[in-house]
Amino acid sequence: MKTITATLALISASLLSLGKAEAGTQTEPHLALEKLHAQNEQFERTVVKVTDRVYTAVGFHGANTSMIVGDDGIIIVDTLKGPSSAAKAFKALRQYSDKPVKAIIYTHSHGDHIGGASAFIDGQAPDIYATESFGSAEGVNKAVNPVKAKRNVRQFGRDLPPSQATNRGVAPAGTEDHDGGDGTVAPTILVPESGLKTTIAGVEIEFHSAPGETDDALFVWLPKEEVLFAGDNFYHSFPNLYAIRGTAYRDVLKWSESVATMATFNPRYLVPGHTMPILEQAAAVQALEDYSEAIRSVYDQTVAGINAGKSPDQIAHEVALPEHLRDKSYLTEFYGTVPHATRAIYVGLLGWFDGNPTTLNPIEPRLKAQKIAQLAGGAKKLTKEMKAAFAREDYQWALELSDHLKWLDGSDKQLARKTKVAALRALAEREYNAPNRNYYLSYANELESGQLSEIWF
Ligand SMILES: [Zn+2]
Repeated sequence: MKTITATLALISASLLSLGKAEAGTQTEPHLALEKLHAQNEQFERTVVKVTDRVYTAVGFHGANTSMIVGDDGIIIVDTLKGPSSAAKAFKALRQYSDKPVKAIIYTHSHGDHIGGASAFIDGQAPDIYATESFGSAEGVNKAVNPVKAKRNVRQFGRDLPPSQATNRGVAPAGTEDHDGGDGTVAPTILVPESGLKTTIAGVEIEFHSAPGETDDALFVWLPKEEVLFAGDNFYHSFPNLYAIRGTAYRDVLKWSESVATMATFNPRYLVPGHTMPILEQAAAVQALEDYSEAIRSVYDQTVAGINAGKSPDQIAHEVALPEHLRDKSYLTEFYGTVPHATRAIYVGLLGWFDGNPTTLNPIEPRLKAQKIAQLAGGAKKLTKEMKAAFAREDYQWALELSDHLKWLDGSDKQLARKTKVAALRALAEREYNAPNRNYYLSYANELESGQLSEIWF
């Protein structure tokens, strides 16, 4: 009897030690929803009076647009994605000044910051400022635009029904995108890499190049007002150092350095590209310092892992934010995630090969599936294990097994597909990282409705 008990204990211990594969942004379903709902407060539609001269319109689209009131005109910082939402934001800002628009500034070239510019031009053409490298961000991987477009829809949950929509991490769900990009106006004044100090409408203003989310980013500094406009190098979430919609490498180290530079200005007011401004100096400086440190730490830990010979999968599961930064609300992984960032850094610095010769020529998926099935004792046993994995809420493993089963002749592919849909939804329910959640749900819907070919299943 003793032996049997001991053996059973051993078996259950070894089952436990197999563990469930869970990402750090998975939690109880009601907690995931609570967190996401709380984050919605960061982009509820409002105009924030930052100072007597600075107003920021939040929540009129995905990003923010700001107005700086000068002596004989106004300056607009970022213009939202399309003219219709930009016009609504401008109307709200116009309550505070009816002076003519003297200048428009693009903090970087992403569509949600430039596409509504025409809505702000109601008289003489304003000067439009951007960096010399403006537009370089999206050009590098144009060849794969068709697949980027599909992944973009999933990441932002653009096709999700209202019952499944939450938010986009640093932006609300369901923004009006129908005229996105229609109002883009080309820059007329290009800021050199060394920066630019000038006066517009009587307002002293500085432009500092700040590579980060994009290489063509800048931040704006008003020395008299002590206001800093960070663009998308800072917002209220762990930064999207990698976007799952598919992006070229974002220079993580430069991003950290750009944010560290911003902190040295000791801004009294910090206006991010998305989410609410921070209106208190100590909090603003602390946020920038923490943000820079968090990015740097993820970079340094990843580099240390690489140099220790670890694989991207190992590193992704090991790297974590330093203890003292974990509870900072602006570092919660609503938009970017630490594991995704580590993988991006790995590939950005070394490319796809992990240094292990086993991975130089891995077995093609169909053959690998056959070998896994053989090891399991046949496709039926593999199917049974997939069902068991789902039943014990080991959803990631259920997904991985369903991906093997899809290749196997004679397997119950319908069941594998159904299980994948259910596992994706179960993961989504527990996920508070918005892009992950949106992607799981969107993909499950596509899979269920037969929109995806066998290859994608
Ligand atoms: Zn943005």
